[in-house]
Amino acid sequence: FDQRDGEIWWDGTFVPWSEAKLHVLSHGLHYASSVFEGERAYGGRIFKSEEHTARLHESARVLGFEIPYSEAVINAAKDELLQRMNLVDAYIRPVAWRGSEMMGVSAQANTIHLAIAAWEWPSYFKPEERLKGIRLDMAQYRRPDPATAPFKSKAAGLYMICTLSKHEAERKGYADALMLDWRGQVAEATGANVFFVKDGKIHTPTPDCFLDGITRRTVIDLAKRRGFDLIERVIMPDELETFEQCFLTGTAAEVTPVSEIGPYTFEVGEITKALMTDYDAVVRPSAPQLQAAAG
Ligand code: PMP
Repeated sequence: FDQRDGEIWWDGTFVPWSEAKLHVLSHGLHYASSVFEGERAYGGRIFKSEEHTARLHESARVLGFEIPYSEAVINAAKDELLQRMNLVDAYIRPVAWRGSEMMGVSAQANTIHLAIAAWEWPSYFKPEERLKGIRLDMAQYRRPDPATAPFKSKAAGLYMICTLSKHEAERKGYADALMLDWRGQVAEATGANVFFVKDGKIHTPTPDCFLDGITRRTVIDLAKRRGFDLIERVIMPDELETFEQCFLTGTAAEVTPVSEIGPYTFEVGEITKALMTDYDAVVRPSAPQLQAAAG
């Protein structure tokens, strides 16, 4: 991934992609003092760009550091990067981290860096392929208690258990894994939120120890606009067998139907399909009405 053409925005300037390197003694690498975002542009427009930038700033604050670039500067940098890279449908990855001045748990004085990379991510919407649904493993690791880790930060450190769970799932032939939280309640997938459908109603876990995704909130709004009942509540894993439909939401996942979680199977039903269609209409720029409504 490090040998490509193009540029990366780094601390206020554009550097050639292959030269965007940092020192091995960076605090962010050793102690996970790093936060990031994952965003998508559709038709040249970054979906909810400002919201992602606000979350990035907040993620850093939760880890005790301030990103030294304003939200306006970051928003403009992302747009300029897409233009310079000639990207229309793209993934955008801002990342902020503590630098290399001090090497130890404490790094109060270390410079805070910010880089933004973007690469092509084709925006095809092929419902016929996705309607098969994906298969999820049950993850071995659990989302930590909020007293153990600052869950409101999209912090690199919190992804250690996600990568472990995703790798294990892939080894077993699954696409992803469903993670429980420290109480044993259903939480989320390794990089996406989870929803279920039963008796015409939508159920999703309350985000009290995992990321309340931007896509999650968008899909909740879309569901309400359709008049669907949406219930945020505690969901225990022994309920999985009672649900009829299941889907994931996330910037990368969009709305992805789930066909299996371990021994349980789900149909790709009408509510899941409706939300896939509505989300598609909101993110892809041919539906100004829905976009305005989605804010
Ligand atoms: N949970 C986790 C662990 C994630 O990594 C993501 C992706 N950022 C999400 C949920 C979904 O968040 P969003 O909809 O903001 O992409």
